[in-house]
Order: sequence, then structure tokens, then C-alpha cells
Amino acid sequence: MTTGNGGSQTILVVGGGISGLTAAVEAAEVGYSVILVEKNPYLGGRVAQHNKYFPKLCTPTCGLEINYQRIRNNARITFYTLAEVEEITGTAGHFSVRVRQNPRFVNDKCTACDECSKACTTQIDDPFNFGMGQTKAIGRPHAMAFPARYVMDATFAKSDEARKLAQLCPVGAIEPDMEAKTVTLTVGSIIWATGWQPYDPGRVRPYGFGLYANVINNMRFERLSSGQGPTRGQIVRPSDGKAVKNIAFIQCAGSRDHNYLPFCSQICCLASMKQATYIREQYPDAKVTIYYIDLRAMDRYEAFQKKVEADAQVHWVKSKPARIDEDPKTHDPIVMGENTLTGERYAERYDLVVLATGMEPNSATSPIPAADVRYDDYGFVVNGQNGIHAVGCSAAPVDVASAVQASTAAALKAIQTIRQAGG
Ligand SMILES: Cc1cc2nc3c(=O)[nH]c(=O)nc-3n(C[C@H](O)[C@H](O)[C@H](O)COP(=O)(O)OP(=O)(O)OC[C@H]3O[C@@H](n4cnc5c(N)ncnc54)[C@H](O)[C@@H]3O)c2cc1C
Repeated sequence: MTTGNGGSQTILVVGGGISGLTAAVEAAEVGYSVILVEKNPYLGGRVAQHNKYFPKLCTPTCGLEINYQRIRNNARITFYTLAEVEEITGTAGHFSVRVRQNPRFVNDKCTACDECSKACTTQIDDPFNFGMGQTKAIGRPHAMAFPARYVMDATFAKSDEARKLAQLCPVGAIEPDMEAKTVTLTVGSIIWATGWQPYDPGRVRPYGFGLYANVINNMRFERLSSGQGPTRGQIVRPSDGKAVKNIAFIQCAGSRDHNYLPFCSQICCLASMKQATYIREQYPDAKVTIYYIDLRAMDRYEAFQKKVEADAQVHWVKSKPARIDEDPKTHDPIVMGENTLTGERYAERYDLVVLATGMEPNSATSPIPAADVRYDDYGFVVNGQNGIHAVGCSAAPVDVASAVQASTAAALKAIQTIRQAGG
């Protein structure tokens, strides 16, 4: 579709998390053509990996499913999965965008009948669960994945077993020789919604992540608590499968520290409070300790904080722990530091420690492949530049409600870009 002066009326949305999905459906539902490009084999982004949402503690699946439904019902939205933008040239109203689509090795004839996955004998570390547990080398990326199309691991695709499975597929959907494709799109404006990745807790060396099995980060804890996760929702220790009855959360694990991630991600305090409720619900006798510098539960979230604070089994220690050691016999993590309020030194033993690590913008490590894009000091995209609009965690560390609001606004901004370029 083009405007009067030949400009394109199509909007490109890069990133299919809650921000990109929202922007895409909002723009399409007022009549604009939208192309959505997502790197993963499924849409939904990080929200798809969450167990529950604060503050209502409902599952993220319903919110995502509504958006998938809106996509299914709207012929104006085209989406590519396993795809990334390689280059953007041109100006507002007249962008040319080169997109690489990586092979899924399963074509769109797939009916998700599961015959291939049942027959497959090869397991790989499950990327959806951050490698906690394994999954078949061909299968649905996760139980609620949209599109419900299977994907084959790229290394496995080269194996003899992959070829045997291709013979087995009743509808001829498996193509181990599938290759990457490049498509060039002409679009009028771009919404950048590539979101965030968990800050690498291994960089905070005194906390022993990667060395100690029972020190994990908050996103792994989301998966560990999920009924679709590696333990089917049983919150147990990675080292020995023992029930987690005494757990510590360490806030600002790397955050607000110029040696690591200098900014506050805004959601980590709330995420730990939410995760404290997972434990307390599953083990009524469990004890939770939250180590914090100061607690940040903005505006309407204060009521949620008060609810968690009302639980006498949740303890709050104002302190930034200095380090974590491990008891080599039991694999219990031992948290050490000084209580800022009392001045007392402590060395406390836990079943499991969760590092509340922040959200690092993907744009810091994979910048927008276009000339003259500006970023702030932390790698977030400065919003509203020359027809490229950044939303959600590409623009700032935000919760889902704020991401949805900003994405709805960005759909309008993208439409304005097109109209202005069209004269
Ligand atoms: C432990 C934890 C718990 C949380 N719990 C809650 C909660 O309970 N409630 C709440 O409101 N918020 C919560 N949040 C925050 C929530 O995760 C974010 O608000 C939300 O993920 C923002 O969505 P987004 O679409 O901006 O980014 P993302 O969810 O990161 O989505 C970005 C999408 O872009 C894709 N992408 C990345 N790079 C590219 C590329 N180059 N090309 C194409 N696609 C790309 C990604 O694969 C992904 O699908 C939590 C955060 C953490 C860390």
C-alpha cells in the first residue's frame, strides 16, 4: 500500500513480545498493513516465560492469547518468526528493510500432530527453560507457542535421524535441507520492540551464579515455578530435587551498580515479591528472606507490596549481600553481608538463592541496523527518531501495563509518520 507521493503505508514492527504484539494489532485494527518480525520461533517474548503476572497473579497466557486471536482475525498483519532485520535504508515513509528468515526446518503444512516429536530420540537443552531440563530436538517450542508450528534444532537438522523423521511425517512438513531466506520489505515507519534479556548474573562473580547449582536468577525461578516448566511447577532445588523451604531473594543483583548494570529495572522488587507468593503458596511452612537496598513498588503496586509484607513468613533485610559461598557437602548457598539497619554481620544458609537481576535492553548488544540511531547511556533506544519509534523495554525498563500503553501510543506515532511522509 502506498501514499499519494509513493510513500509506503505499511508499518514494520520488529520484536513480537507484548510491546510489538500490541503495536501491531492496534495499528492493524485501524486499517494499516503491518509486518511483524520476530527472532524466536514463537511470539510472546519474555512474558510467555513468566509464570504469573503481578499484581493480580493471573497467568500471562490469557493476555497473550487475546493478542494472538486478534492477529489470527486480522488479514492486515503478516508475521515472520525466526527472522531478524539485517539492514534499514531510506527515510520515513520510504524505508527499505532487509530481513533474514532463518530456517525452521518444518514448513507450514505442519499440523502439530506430534508424530515426529514422539519418534525423535535426540534431546537438547530446552532454550525456553534456560537449559533447565531437556526437550526433543523437534517439537513445539513450548506448550502455548503461537504459531503452533513445530521447529527443529539446526544442528540436529544435519543428522541422519532428522532425515528419517522427514520420511515419517504424514504431511511432508519436515525439510532438513531448508535454507535461510532474505526478503526486502518497503515500509513507511518502523516500531522497534526488541525488548530485553536477563542481565548475565555470572558477571556478578561474588554471587557464584554458574558455580553453585542452588543460586539461580529470577527468570529461571519463573520457569521453575511454572506448571509448564522443567519440574512441572514443583519448586525444588536444582542440585538434588529437595523442596525449597528456606529461600532468599537478592535484590539489585548487579543493578544500580556502575560495575554492572547501572540503572534500576523498576520491576525486580515486584518480581521477587510475586515470586515470594509462589513459594508461600506451594509450601505453607516455607520462609522467605528478601535482601534489598530499598524497595521500589511504584504507584498502584504499593498495595501489592503491602499484601506481601503482611505475610509474617516473609522477612526483609536491608542489605546488599557481599558474597555467597556454598557448603560443598549439602550444596546449601550461604549468604554473607552486613545488615545496614543493625550493623550486624550475617552468614545465613538457604535451600535456594534467587538473584533478582535486571533487564538489559537487547538494543545494547544488537543495535538497530540503520544509520544515525541514538541510544541513551544504557543502550535503550531514544524514542521517535526519523520514523523509527522505540517501545516497551527497547525504550526503557517497564512493566507490562506500561509497555502496552506505550505500544498503543507508538502505533499512533507510526501512523503519523506515514501520514506526514505522504503529505
Ligand atoms: C523476573 C521478571 C518477572 C517479571 N514479571 C512481571 C510481571 O509479573 N508483571 C509485569 O507487568 N511485568 C513483569 N516483568 C517485566 C516484563 O517481562 C516486561 O515488561 C515485558 O517483557 C516487556 O515486553 P517487551 O515486548 O517490551 O519485551 P520482550 O518481552 O523482551 O519482547 C521482545 C521480543 O523481541 C524479540 N527480539 C529480540 N531481538 C530481536 C531482533 N533483533 N529481531 C526480531 N525480534 C527480536 C524477542 O525474541 C522478544 O520476542 C518481569 C520481568 C522480570 C525480569
